[in-house]
Amino acid sequence: MKLSDIPTEIERLAEDCEAELASRFAEIDRVARINTRRIMEAFQEFRVSESCFAGTTGYGYDDLGRETLDKIWARVFGSESALVRTGFVNGTHAIASALFASVGPGDTLMPLMGSPYDTLRTAIGISGDAYGSLGFYGVNYAEVATKNGGPDMESIERRVGEIRPRAVLIQRSRGYDSRRALSAEEVGEICRLVKRVSPNTICVVDNCYGEFTETEEPTMLGADLAAGSLIKNPGGGLAPTGGYIAGKAELVERAAYRLTVPGIGGECGCTLGTNRQLFQGLFLAPHTTAQALKTAALCSAMLQKLGFDTEPGPFEPRYDIIQTVTLKSPENLCRFCRGIQAGSPVDSYVTPEPWQMPGYEDEVIMAAGAFIQGSSIELSADGPMREPYRAFLQGGLTYESGRLGIMNAIAEMLDK
Ligand SMILES: *Cc1c(COP(=O)(O)O)cnc(C)c1O
Repeated sequence: MKLSDIPTEIERLAEDCEAELASRFAEIDRVARINTRRIMEAFQEFRVSESCFAGTTGYGYDDLGRETLDKIWARVFGSESALVRTGFVNGTHAIASALFASVGPGDTLMPLMGSPYDTLRTAIGISGDAYGSLGFYGVNYAEVATKNGGPDMESIERRVGEIRPRAVLIQRSRGYDSRRALSAEEVGEICRLVKRVSPNTICVVDNCYGEFTETEEPTMLGADLAAGSLIKNPGGGLAPTGGYIAGKAELVERAAYRLTVPGIGGECGCTLGTNRQLFQGLFLAPHTTAQALKTAALCSAMLQKLGFDTEPGPFEPRYDIIQTVTLKSPENLCRFCRGIQAGSPVDSYVTPEPWQMPGYEDEVIMAAGAFIQGSSIELSADGPMREPYRAFLQGGLTYESGRLGIMNAIAEMLDK
């Protein structure tokens, strides 16, 4: 399907949905305005200038840009300290470093929203027995399941009170689960409950996909550490790689020891030429996140009108950028993903095929045509080839391009 072949009925459906979504879009824009102001105030307070963009080589001592960005990041996330580094290879690496900073041999780590994100399971040591995982170093594990798709506050209170874990892990986004995402306020509520029954327990938040979807972040509301990926929301689509950790100074320092080496921590780590992209990416992040949220809402509205179940619904508040659509048949899922791929600015000529991805039970189909490999703040869609053939869609660097991708995917799916 070429973009020029998108039928006018689908274009009209998009326009109708946009008219209905006007107040949702206005709310998304309001959040972006508040977050942009907070970020600009931090840029001005810490006197960002051309010299911050220069970067360092070698050891990377006295990197003005790196040190300034850490301070800005901490201010924006309402935390004591932050560590923003391209040396984090992905979000898993940043979150795992936050966990290693929080627990030691003999301690217990307790995830409170069911099983953690797939890639973290290996790092924690619950799937496989990877050398150097938390389990390898003698960290115990006990998780609390979700209830009706949300946190089970009674079980959390009881289990945390009984076991007094050294740290809990709270995943804000749904990930690949069918549960809903948590608002920052809900994360804060969980943190307050944990602190009430076990004051010394450290609250770590997997903040992936949640950043800037609201005007507050979990670190403003009681979380001790939050971590995420720079090729999702907070990199604004410009950060070429990396991750961040924000939170209590002592814990962030320990995470830096884990990222580099004890005694060095965040003092080393040259930035080469990446500082400008990280600054500019953060500057754009509230806007880019808003583009992804609008793309998701449009997708939800259009597919709901076409008779498919969508999560969240078009008018529901959004606490992450993920949209799920239940497409009901393998053909629909394949065609939808192929339409997203064909509607991308990069690799549009590629045809995604279902494949057996290591570590997954069923075949998975993935569509992504991104400027940055694996970037999911850019429009992408994927799903396991099993009932009920649910697609997970996220991203959209600009609403205009996200809208085209969605229309192309629908056109491809309906073109039988
Ligand atoms: C993306 C993501 C991660 C980290 O994934 P990476 O691919 O390593 O960046 C962790 N948790 C959640 C909920 C995520 O969405």
